[in-house]
Amino acid sequence: MITLALSKGRIFDETLPLLARAGIEVLEDPDTSRKLILPTNRADVRVVLVRATDVPTYVEYGGADLGVTGLDTLLENRAQWSSAGAGSGLYQPLDLGIARCRVSVAVRADFDYAAAVRQGSRLKVATKYTAIAREFFAAKGVHVDLIKLYGSMELAPLTGLADAIVDLVSTGNTLKANDLVEVERIMDISSRLVVNQAALKLKREALRPLIDAFAQATASQSAEPRP
Ligand code: AMP
Repeated sequence: MITLALSKGRIFDETLPLLARAGIEVLEDPDTSRKLILPTNRADVRVVLVRATDVPTYVEYGGADLGVTGLDTLLENRAQWSSAGAGSGLYQPLDLGIARCRVSVAVRADFDYAAAVRQGSRLKVATKYTAIAREFFAAKGVHVDLIKLYGSMELAPLTGLADAIVDLVSTGNTLKANDLVEVERIMDISSRLVVNQAALKLKREALRPLIDAFAQATASQSAEPRP
């Protein structure tokens, strides 16, 4: 049995066409089913639904053989995965090029971020990406007080909780709807295929064709014009 870990939402939705090109069809809709283990048209492949931040954990410890996770999740929790033992149990063979977005700094439209940075002000930054934010501002030489949040980051500058946020931006519509502006682009993000290293050895014959099919599906998808 091959177990693929996915999170609901964009990653699940954008992984489905790649699976389809690999001949795999998920037989239940996670939005209507309450099941956490979804069967596929292949008796030897199943999908498990986990929180986005749990996908690398499932794969690292063998609860799933492979999974799809954002680069943001991988980078933010790098310390956690690499502390799991000698090296990491995570093999990262492919950039799937899906769920593309960016990690950016955003502020209220009336906040002069450039001046604050120039003057060496201490910034209050709210984010769920504290590791990524810490590294970014340290490299810039900007002093920050990081405030860890788990959701609705956009609210922080509007309520005075923070001067800035570090969050995922895709179309920019959410920022615009909340009168926020993107002032720095920290990094581009896409989703990655991650594979359990032990599974790659023990289930090589079953996993390799699947990884190759993902690679081919990714290549042919990126060759098509974007909608
Ligand atoms: P947008 O309005 O299109 O810029 O999307 C921004 C909102 O969607 C923010 O709340 C982000 O946290 C979330 N978001 C954007 N892209 C992604 C992604 N690839 N994965 C998960 N959440 C995302």
